[in-house]
Amino acid sequence: MDNQIVDFAYIIAAVLFIFGIKMLGSAATARKGNLMSSLGMGLAVVATLIAGGFSWTFVIVGIAVGGLIGVICAKKVQMTGMPELVALFNGFGGLASVLVGWAEFAKDPTFGENALIKSIAVVLAILIGGITFTGSIVAYLKLSGKVGGAPTVFPGQKFVNALVLLGIVVVGVLFAMNPSATLLYTLIGLSCLLGVLGVIPIGGGDMPVVISFLNSCSGLAASAAGFVIFNNVLIVAGCLVGASGLILTVIMCKAMNRTLGNVFFGGFGAAGTKQEIEGEMKAISVDDAYYVLEAAQSVVVVPGYGMAVAQAQHVTRELGEVLEENGCEVRYAIHPVAGRMPGHMNVLLAEADVPYEQLCEMDDVNPTMETVDVAIVVGANDVVNPAALEDEGCAIYGMPIINVHQARTVFALKRGQGAGFSGLVNTLFFRENTRMIYGDAKETLTNLVAQFKD
Ligand code: NDP
Repeated sequence: MDNQIVDFAYIIAAVLFIFGIKMLGSAATARKGNLMSSLGMGLAVVATLIAGGFSWTFVIVGIAVGGLIGVICAKKVQMTGMPELVALFNGFGGLASVLVGWAEFAKDPTFGENALIKSIAVVLAILIGGITFTGSIVAYLKLSGKVGGAPTVFPGQKFVNALVLLGIVVVGVLFAMNPSATLLYTLIGLSCLLGVLGVIPIGGGDMPVVISFLNSCSGLAASAAGFVIFNNVLIVAGCLVGASGLILTVIMCKAMNRTLGNVFFGGFGAAGTKQEIEGEMKAISVDDAYYVLEAAQSVVVVPGYGMAVAQAQHVTRELGEVLEENGCEVRYAIHPVAGRMPGHMNVLLAEADVPYEQLCEMDDVNPTMETVDVAIVVGANDVVNPAALEDEGCAIYGMPIINVHQARTVFALKRGQGAGFSGLVNTLFFRENTRMIYGDAKETLTNLVAQFKD
């Protein structure tokens, strides 16, 4: 196909990506945005295939095997396991970039025309791709509980990391000036090692930020791979992933009131005081909770990871509906890191058809919390833990929370006395105005809705 037509198709694809990403910014247009970006990617793939210059057998086998694995993974994964899947996908994106760099070297070790630019691009693709690959695998293992979530630290760790980084810089420069197979393999090995060393000292509690950051890295690695093979759409798509991943990382850090440096080098999860909490947890029956809710004028529902586990999003919406029919104002307050992936709660509530206008962000709902009659905490824990505001020694100190403790009454729905992701005891549950409703969130909410309907 004529090169100009391919480039034109790439420009259209890039425009579709950009508008698609813009539409992902609002829940109302997100589905269309996703479709638009997929169309862009489809167009880019078709244009690349038509441009030719490769072995069709490899491409068809690659698409078939990769596509099959992708479909099986996406179908099998539970909503709660989505962050792990994202971590794995990021990792494979990084590995793909390493392979592109390696293949380009194997094709022509001198890199022919534009040798210096190509060899620098190969170094970057391998460096960023290698770190992303092994870093993401460690993040996956930590998140899925296959290895412990606690930070792994050893004496002189920062020095070892700095040494490996220095080694990468030296080998990278030598390779760019005079490419050789030994330098290439050393570079791949050191980059993969740095990925492992960089992520093991980070606690499980910070994995969402790490995954978002590695997502950004996988985009940059793809972009570098784009320079390696001079493919414009790969450069553009990689930059978009890199930039959006970085923006998300910054937003998540802000939501936890931390800096990126603190996440990577602060050892979150290692800290933690022995908490001594006054008061006791007081339970309330569904029947009694119903009478309180029946009289409530305003209710804020705060969903958390437990709502996802219980798959209670539909019945949460049903409770909202019966409360509204009863003349109560209902809002859903969403914390940016509630659940186990960015936007986790938004996705679940959208799936349950909760009206978008009832979804509130933390910064909007907190100033109004004192006027709320009942805050219903559905399987949330860390994101409503007042210790984050009050206990300077605790691991989540400084993370902004949804201030449900300021509401007149708080109902906390959870199965028992289990801790949240951070492993901390939640001081909210011991407050005077908090009542625990024990049991699976879906069952509890179903019973509450039934009371309203009787
Ligand atoms: P938490 O993990 O803090 O707490 C979840 C609570 O849900 C548990 O205390 C558990 O208590 C309860 N629960 C579990 N199953 C059920 C059920 N079937 N019915 C009712 N309750 C249930 O959740 P949050 O959403 O408050 O906080 C998210 C945490 O995860 C934060 O620390 C965040 O940093 C971290 N994180 C966030 C990610 C993201 O991107 N959003 C990704 C990875 C981690 P019990 O066992 O007693 O039922």
